[in-house]
Amino acid sequence: MKILVAVKRVIDFNVKVRVKADQSGIETANVKMSMNPFDEIAVEEALRLKEAGKAAEVVAVTIGPAASVETLRTAMAMGADRGIHVLAEGDVEPLAVAKLLKGVVDKESPDIVFLGKQAIDNDCNQTGQMLAALADWPQATFASKVELMAGENGGAVAVTREIDGGLDTVKITLPAIITTDLRLNEPRYASLPNIMKAKKKPVDQMSPEDLAVDVTPRLTTLKVEEPPTRAAGIKVADVGELLDKLRNEAKVI
Ligand code: AMP
Repeated sequence: MKILVAVKRVIDFNVKVRVKADQSGIETANVKMSMNPFDEIAVEEALRLKEAGKAAEVVAVTIGPAASVETLRTAMAMGADRGIHVLAEGDVEPLAVAKLLKGVVDKESPDIVFLGKQAIDNDCNQTGQMLAALADWPQATFASKVELMAGENGGAVAVTREIDGGLDTVKITLPAIITTDLRLNEPRYASLPNIMKAKKKPVDQMSPEDLAVDVTPRLTTLKVEEPPTRAAGIKVADVGELLDKLRNEAKVI
């Protein structure tokens, strides 16, 4: 079995994001970038299937500028066998990412594609679903448990999904798209020897033109603003004063 994992380079989740002075977007110059956290979970799940002897190869794919190759190196340092880099500048919207991934899926014929449930920079939560529609493959989103089902003709997976009312377990036949939720696993850290080994692993580079995909954005960002700063709170001496303020100043009781 071959597993493809989509990994996106995003601003590190610990960084306080700043809006550009001209409000045209967010500041990315000299900002720490990392692999999207949900994609680390996706890589980890693929590696666990490989280590359990269920998968033969794990291939990481990223779409982005030249520096995105670092994200592929991280995936390979975690244990992915090789990388595919679709070189694209600027913001590539989820539909274009899904079309590019569909092109890679056609070339690679994986049995499972793992994606994160969402990228933490745009919070779109669209790419996996769009890829499933384009490939016409079954999809299981927000996975918190993935179990290959033995004895199923052609292969099937039971995927447990976290939903509002509890846990929903679905069976999907392979090939399939699975998007990962936070509680699926705890991703490993890459060890130094593995980081060194990852430098020698192969990365194929291709362009959107190679995959015949037009990545021109369909959306125009009008303005990006900081959220309003919260007004400072006050301290009250006792419950009496609190009730008085709620009644006579805030007028909420
Ligand atoms: P989104 O729909 O943008 O919230 O992204 C959902 C998932 O799609 C991410 O967690 C990644 O697995 C994948 N993805 C989105 N954009 C990219 C990209 N530029 N390169 C590789 N994978 C991506």
